[in-house]
Amino acid sequence: MKADYEVGIVGAGFAGLAAALRLKKSGKTSFVVFERAAEPGGTWRDNVYPGCACDVASPLYSLRQALNSGWSRLYAGQPEILAYMNDVVQKNDLRKHIRFQTDIVTAVFQKDIGGWVLTDRSGNSYSVHLLVLGTGPLNRPHIPNFAGLATFKGNYFHSSQWDSSFDFTGKKVAVIGTGASAIQIIPALAPIVEHLTVFQRTPAWVTPRNDRALTEAQHRRWKKFPTLLWLKREAIYWFSEFLGLGFVGFEPINRIMRQVALGRLKRQVKDPETRQKLTPTYKIGCKRILRSDDYYKTFNRQNVTLVTDAIDQFTEEGIVANGRLHPLDAVVFGTGFIAADIHLYLQVIGPGGDNLIDRWKVTGAEAYRGTTVAGFPSLCLLLGPNTGLGHNSVVHMMESQLNYVMGYLQHLEQMPEGAYLDVKEDVQRRYNTDLQRKFKGTVWSSGCQSWYLNAAGKNTTLYPRLSARFRRQTKRFDPAVYRQVQQTVPENTNVQIQ
Ligand code: NAP
Repeated sequence: MKADYEVGIVGAGFAGLAAALRLKKSGKTSFVVFERAAEPGGTWRDNVYPGCACDVASPLYSLRQALNSGWSRLYAGQPEILAYMNDVVQKNDLRKHIRFQTDIVTAVFQKDIGGWVLTDRSGNSYSVHLLVLGTGPLNRPHIPNFAGLATFKGNYFHSSQWDSSFDFTGKKVAVIGTGASAIQIIPALAPIVEHLTVFQRTPAWVTPRNDRALTEAQHRRWKKFPTLLWLKREAIYWFSEFLGLGFVGFEPINRIMRQVALGRLKRQVKDPETRQKLTPTYKIGCKRILRSDDYYKTFNRQNVTLVTDAIDQFTEEGIVANGRLHPLDAVVFGTGFIAADIHLYLQVIGPGGDNLIDRWKVTGAEAYRGTTVAGFPSLCLLLGPNTGLGHNSVVHMMESQLNYVMGYLQHLEQMPEGAYLDVKEDVQRRYNTDLQRKFKGTVWSSGCQSWYLNAAGKNTTLYPRLSARFRRQTKRFDPAVYRQVQQTVPENTNVQIQ
């Protein structure tokens, strides 16, 4: 049986759009993108908090096949990134491939099509030969279960669920958390609120962005000579790779990064006690390093207080920490996401009836090259397990994966109708054993707590080496490590060709 579409992509965020663009540019027409919201954009559509921007420079944080010569700043803000994504959709006529407000809730493998039957929340079904999940690792907000939270009379919300109708002007506000989102929110809120209390559990390592406006002359040059823009992108990429050496075991670079960050902290934060509180005690890079030009300086303001006491509870009036009440009108939770082990919001059921999430509950999230999973044929994950980076752009990772996915698809196309590929279990196991071994000696195994680790302490999110290595690993599809399964007559009898 033939599937409705050759490729079905779930999610119209950066990864899903990158996949759609790649398919389109290679001349494919039989593909569909399912998007639960009414617009594309994923994380850049949902995160609208003040100060929201990317901490990867825009010439690098953009798609290889859709470079943009017109970025207004080196580090574009959320509205501009979202506009860029919409522009990619419009210029490449991708909208006609996207089914908006189609929330896929189950994907069940069906042997007779060698692919997947997807069902949306309204009960409609679609069949696809190759399923590509671009659902993103950071879309499940984490709000800690603080005692008394329900009794709090003020407003509160998570950074990714920003209430744009709430006016912070002149209010007493708290931000809980000092991660990547919070350090952008804190400098943006501080000038407008009466008082800002920042609750910090662990200080972050903060390095500068050196953000600046890009000039008309630069735009013109990049437009006229796209190679120059490409060179800029490469320069940013390789400099980030160089710094990444400091995370994967090259100590001198790690030490220099540490000294530069500490020096900047000393220069920028005037009060020695606050400076002390902001000084991390773990190795730089172990938790995601943060990049900001204005975060530290915010703590010199009279109306900003840094609290490092543990939060006891919420009351009607505010937050009690170490027995002291901090009266508040509003609280912003910059407390991150549930990321490790990829908590997919759709059920993925393989040919043997296995549920992918249940499988991962036992083993921790695992895939082969972060992309395919044994027992779940004709499925490719974008930004799957161990494809995150602590030093460079994840767009580079998803584009590397797409090289692999395109090779996979090409191979599928040469197989008889209904045939499918399933990565061999022992190959996946060996890949993951080797991957976990590679964490040894990196900053990520230096003993800090972070969202990179799952409950069992296993790092299921990061790639433990430089991203250039991952690009090489995913450059070509490797059919030899897959079982090829094809239908024979009588129907539903599988012959397995090893
Ligand atoms: P995050 O980096 O995980 O930070 C969460 C913060 O909340 C941490 O400071 C954490 O403290 C704190 N926290 C969590 N639970 C807490 C509790 N029970 N009590 C007190 N504090 C608590 O989350 P995020 O800032 O939302 O960022 C998540 C990821 O999104 C980033 O790492 C990044 O990958 C992505 N992001 C990227 C950008 C960008 O510019 N590219 C911007 C924003 C977000 P501990 O450190 O002690 O756990």
